[in-house]
Amino acid sequence: MICPKCNQKTNHVTNTKFFDEFNYLERERECRTPNCFNKFITYEQISPGNKKIPKLKIPKVKKRKIEPRTQWQEFRFQYYASYLVGNVFDQLLILLKENNLEEKFDEQTLGILEIKNKDGEIYYKLEDDISGEIHEFQIRGLKSKIIRSILNDKEYWEKFKEIFKKDASEEDKTKENQQFLKSIVHPKTGIRSEKYDLEFFKKNPLIDYWSNKVGDKDFWQIWIKLH
Ligand SMILES: [Zn+2]
Repeated sequence: MICPKCNQKTNHVTNTKFFDEFNYLERERECRTPNCFNKFITYEQISPGNKKIPKLKIPKVKKRKIEPRTQWQEFRFQYYASYLVGNVFDQLLILLKENNLEEKFDEQTLGILEIKNKDGEIYYKLEDDISGEIHEFQIRGLKSKIIRSILNDKEYWEKFKEIFKKDASEEDKTKENQQFLKSIVHPKTGIRSEKYDLEFFKKNPLIDYWSNKVGDKDFWQIWIKLH
């Protein structure tokens, strides 16, 4: 088959689904042309000349029902991540301004070598590509400030109401206060679990913005060292 995007034949089948009820099959294909990698689907069915063909009905894919608990977990992780990333980069811009490094950063002669969470402090390491000079900065207490802000954020509790179809009680809020950090750092279900990948976080517009600005790969390198 010719790829509808790049018009080359260099694609291969990645999955085949057969629906015996309809004597019908679908092939998922992926283009191999560099810079294309288009994914498309082809169908195969008996030619309409054969009168025995049943009317084609493409089976509906069942939509996964997401439990409120899961929805809430996903929302709060994205929310936390966007707060963290937003604050870390906002602070970086402030530091650059204070140290008259803004221009160099904009001209990209000053690059980010590392941004990480070091003993609870956010540590920044930047390098001047021309002089080789290293600039290091540290910000204290950013994470606890972020958590406080989130738990006082009206929008956060509005989302709670939307998901659980009820206002958060004082008890809910107290519980959230006690468990927020624990649930984030939980080794199995916390924010580090594999399912929370870049694609997941990029559903949040602010993260999407910073990831595109810094570059997905570099952004991910920073992200995994932030929490
Ligand atoms: Zn292609």
